[in-house]
Amino acid sequence: MSWAPPSDPVNNKSKPIKISQLCELCHCRKAILKRPKNLQKICKECFYYVFETEIHNTIVTNNLFQRGERVAVGASGGKDSTVLAHIMKLLNERHDYGIDITLLSVDEGIVGYRDDSLATVKRNQKQYGLPLEIVSFKELYNWTMDEIVATAGIRNSCTYCGVFRRQSLDRGAQKLNIHHVITGHNADDMAETVLMNILRGDVARLEKSTAIITQSSGSPIKRSKPFKYSYQKEIVLYAHYKKLDYFSTECTYAPEAFRGTARELMKNLEAVRPSCIIDIIHSGENLVLKEKEQRFKKLAPGQDPLTVNSGFIDGNRCERCGYLSSNKICKACMLLEGLEKNRATIILEKDSSVDGAARVMRTLEHLSF
Ligand code: SF4
Ligand SMILES: [Zn+2]
Ligand SMILES: [Zn+2]
Repeated sequence: MSWAPPSDPVNNKSKPIKISQLCELCHCRKAILKRPKNLQKICKECFYYVFETEIHNTIVTNNLFQRGERVAVGASGGKDSTVLAHIMKLLNERHDYGIDITLLSVDEGIVGYRDDSLATVKRNQKQYGLPLEIVSFKELYNWTMDEIVATAGIRNSCTYCGVFRRQSLDRGAQKLNIHHVITGHNADDMAETVLMNILRGDVARLEKSTAIITQSSGSPIKRSKPFKYSYQKEIVLYAHYKKLDYFSTECTYAPEAFRGTARELMKNLEAVRPSCIIDIIHSGENLVLKEKEQRFKKLAPGQDPLTVNSGFIDGNRCERCGYLSSNKICKACMLLEGLEKNRATIILEKDSSVDGAARVMRTLEHLSF
């Protein structure tokens, strides 16, 4: 089924629209917004059309879905994932992708934030008529994020949260026998990540940071980002005009400081040159990195660079929890070990020292994931 923007002029009973106010795409309706991506003045209907069609094109060009595939939408109740759930349902019906969509949420255990946002996801479930599965940090790790912050301090909260949430989404998908998780990561997130990895000189992560599909070898779960080229401002506009029900409060624990700084930098650059978000992604996609052999100059002859840190490669399993890990012990188990040590210290000394967490962070920096 194809869809074209409606061409009937609206407002035809009211006073004539000046040419300069007409939509630059359909030339018949009044332009009501300046498109953040390219500053085109367009009408609401054309905005819906171009926004949805660009996402459809990203999906088709990258061959994201197979007919009959079961797909989990990582749903947090925030604007990105709410728009993603809405758009995926709409495009699946409009273009007959033939996929089976489920909402998958992670409850990190952040009182006053995640409990409220999960209430939004539950409403979305009813609004879109999609099944919903919720997995929680408490049930998987016996820790809530509130307990983690109380034990390890707020400084590294996003590191803990990111590692546990990534694994939780995988575990939730596996529980549902779903092998594809899609997330609402948008162009701004991706450009920020590219920038952060350049600024940190993190070549290993830079290489993967613009991939639309990611999957560890041996892992049954792949991830993809249909919003890879969608601007955050356009996602917000779409949610606003479509009156989608989403949760907009920020997390109680601020995003990690370095990402916050990269975000500010991106926003300043975008204000001067809106295309810089896409330009940074394209730069990341086209960077030609040195061959791995050259980057691991100190390897012994014949030694596999992937085994240099641990003797393990992607597809191996964590010795403790059995989860896929490129190291002997997975990142989540490393963090849990630090937390348990800290909890024990706190119980013994009634002291809120964060030394244990800092030690784990230092250890993690020397591991490859
Ligand atoms: S801001 Fe940090 S702690 Fe809060 S939900 Fe995001 S990653 Fe988790
Ligand atoms: Zn128009
Ligand atoms: Zn583990």
